[in-house]
Amino acid sequence: MEPQISDFLVVGSGLAGLTFALRAANRGDVIVLTKAEIQESNTNWAQGGIAAAVSDADSWELHEEDTLIAGAGLCDREAVRFLVKEAPAAIEWLISLGARFDKESDGDLALGREGGHNRNRIVHFQDRTGWEVERAMIAAVRSHPRIQIYEHAFVTSLLTKDGTCVGASARIEGLGQRKFFARSTMLATGGCGKMYQHSTNPSVATGDGIALSLQVGARVENMEFMQFHPTTLYHPQMRSFLISEAVRGAGGTLRNHLGRRFMYDYDPRLELAPRDVVARSIEAEMKKLETWCVYLDISHKPAADIQHEFPTIWERLRTIDLEIEKEWIPVVPAQHYSCGGVVTDLRGQTSIPGLFAAGEVSCTGVHGANRLASNSLLEALVFSSTAADASECGEVEPVCDPIAEPKSIAESDSIRIRRSMQKTMTNEVGIVRTNDGLAKADRQLVQLLEDYDSHAPSPFSTHPLETHNLLLAAQTVVRGAARRKVNIGLHFNSDNPA
Ligand SMILES: Cc1cc2nc3c(=O)[nH]c(=O)nc-3n(C[C@H](O)[C@H](O)[C@H](O)COP(=O)(O)OP(=O)(O)OC[C@H]3O[C@@H](n4cnc5c(N)ncnc54)[C@H](O)[C@@H]3O)c2cc1C
Repeated sequence: MEPQISDFLVVGSGLAGLTFALRAANRGDVIVLTKAEIQESNTNWAQGGIAAAVSDADSWELHEEDTLIAGAGLCDREAVRFLVKEAPAAIEWLISLGARFDKESDGDLALGREGGHNRNRIVHFQDRTGWEVERAMIAAVRSHPRIQIYEHAFVTSLLTKDGTCVGASARIEGLGQRKFFARSTMLATGGCGKMYQHSTNPSVATGDGIALSLQVGARVENMEFMQFHPTTLYHPQMRSFLISEAVRGAGGTLRNHLGRRFMYDYDPRLELAPRDVVARSIEAEMKKLETWCVYLDISHKPAADIQHEFPTIWERLRTIDLEIEKEWIPVVPAQHYSCGGVVTDLRGQTSIPGLFAAGEVSCTGVHGANRLASNSLLEALVFSSTAADASECGEVEPVCDPIAEPKSIAESDSIRIRRSMQKTMTNEVGIVRTNDGLAKADRQLVQLLEDYDSHAPSPFSTHPLETHNLLLAAQTVVRGAARRKVNIGLHFNSDNPA
């Protein structure tokens, strides 16, 4: 099949990928490859909003300070400063594309508050900010004459020539395997939550970008800093549905099954302490009382206010007959966000020439050991924009070094292997880790990779390839955690010195 050539190639259609595509299209032709339907992404599920110091009572300096505190001393200061200074302009740009955000009666943006922020600075659209932003971005890319989108195009390998990335190989539904060459390739494949049993991430979050980067030798770091969202719905009939931080920001309180507001026992900032602190406190409380979950109580608010501020949560919980204006919401922590990833500089450049990364797959240094709430959509926006401006465009020869395409195996084997991995990661590499648990997880992941390799090849299917990618990404989490001998931010090993 004929290879395709463009100035820019984008892998992924969340906020990072589509921002890059729109910005880069000012300078050249762009092809976007995305493995499911265009809107399927973590971006589409984001509820709370985007952090930006846009009010008179706020400043980039204060946003910077909060971000550095959350990152527990491991942030890259230069990257953080760049991020927070660019934030107001990034919001303006989204508005110029047609994204709607909630406003006060005087027309100013309505700003929410989330854990770790010392000011109201969360720009949002109800409790479905990600959906609104993704809607506006999709409309803009679809109408752009220089952007071509392939849906159901699963990128299986990156192409290199003499150490430089020159594009990607993808399996496209209905078309088969095809090579795409470009002067600059943007990796915007999002997160890897599906390595855990419970995750807020949708099914596309399978760490593909991490595995693709490892295969070409790009630097991957900080994967041990896995963020667990403290409050996801605990219910047998519904997948880990996120109950936004904004519910606690609006005065929601955490209670154990006896009704006690237990955060008093753990942190003076109570429910608005940083996420890792709240998640660990919930886990400790559940262990102490031997319960399956704790409860989030927003019943002090009038029903009409809850329905207005949190329509998605309201409607979702109605489907399981939970009336949150009267009843407490059962919640547990679940995997939510990967702070680490493919290392980039301020222009999204990875350690491989020609390969850029942005969004959740990347490690720009802004999150350090822990991400401040609502800084990730912002990071995806800001760094994919600078990457689009910095990346080269122009002629590229459609030539690459030979590649070995990854092997697909039978889906039934893939399902079994993935379940084993998820169990291992949940039991041994969760919120609280131990030396023995990490060593055990490492051994089990090696065995699962061997198990995968021992199966005969099967016709192409995405599930097995995603499982293989998850195994490789999970190894980076386990090995990063084993190397980190100090408890910091999201990494907590009970065998490390206090
Ligand atoms: C429930 C939930 C709520 C959240 N709330 C907030 C919030 O309020 N504020 C905030 O700042 N952040 C929030 N986040 C985090 C934030 O949404 C993500 O970090 C951000 O959207 C990541 O954007 P992205 O473009 O990097 O990746 P994504 O939006 O996940 O997009 C990744 C894209 O890559 C594609 N892809 C992956 N692998 C391949 C492959 N092999 N080939 C082709 N395509 C591929 C996917 O299909 C997808 O289109 C939330 C996340 C979740 C899950």
